[in-house]
Amino acid sequence: MVRAQGVCKVFSDCKNRQVVAIDEFNLQVREKEFVSILGPSGCGKSTFLLLVAGLEKATRGRIMIDGHSVNGPDPKRAIVFQEYLLFPWKTVRGNVEFGPEVRGVAKTKRRDISAKYIDLVGLNKFENRYPHELSGGMKQRVAIARALANEPKVMLMDEPFGALDALTRELLQQELLRIWQETKCTVLFVTHSIGEAIYLSDRVVVMSRRPGRIMATLTIDIPRPRTRADLTTPQFVMYEQALRGMIWEEIQDSQE
Ligand code: ADP
Ligand code: MG
Repeated sequence: MVRAQGVCKVFSDCKNRQVVAIDEFNLQVREKEFVSILGPSGCGKSTFLLLVAGLEKATRGRIMIDGHSVNGPDPKRAIVFQEYLLFPWKTVRGNVEFGPEVRGVAKTKRRDISAKYIDLVGLNKFENRYPHELSGGMKQRVAIARALANEPKVMLMDEPFGALDALTRELLQQELLRIWQETKCTVLFVTHSIGEAIYLSDRVVVMSRRPGRIMATLTIDIPRPRTRADLTTPQFVMYEQALRGMIWEEIQDSQE
């Protein structure tokens, strides 16, 4: 489904120095798989998502989706950022209908699409509200509904719950699993939280420090549907310790 082969991305910084964000990056994600990416700050996680989204272009290597090279953005690859990036002048419905509108979907069909996804994220009484009238968790629900309104095959999520308080975050993790079960798109999820990565994913990949590449992959064999009780099982704790060990090694090496 998603395949990154020998991907390298070099940026030029403001002083025209070259920054190699990721290099020799290889990853294969199956259709409908939920894969989380963990790694030290600045290792190139967001860069990788932007490359898959087609919002940045790889310097070397290639990214294939269903056997086709990524050459630019496509509504079939939706991205959700930590900052909700909603249009403040549009209502919840207006935000969710934006993608279909740009694609030229007729008004009645657009209404059906927005109703379906606003309902799916649990905001059906709020379709006429504006972003400033919503809490952080609700804004992120709108951002998810807006992404889903394009009926994407791949959802790219860059620390989507990073700005939320702990309880809202737990609630949205639960909701995301439910939504994913219903829509069954492929998810690439970047997070700083080891627990969140294990809880949500079929597979967790750990990136090395910059230039980022995949250092390790861990398959999470916890049956679904999962509940928060799974977070305290010996199996969960074992995954957590393994991942924490790998990440600490990377962080400490970079301090030397
Ligand atoms: P992460 O998301 O893992 O924290 P990023 O992908 O944002 O890391 O960044 C990886 C590296 O690439 C960092 O050193 C960052 O400063 C650099 N970088 C990212 N985007 C740009 C850009 N547009 N121009 C220059 N450097 C960039
Ligand atoms: Mg980032």
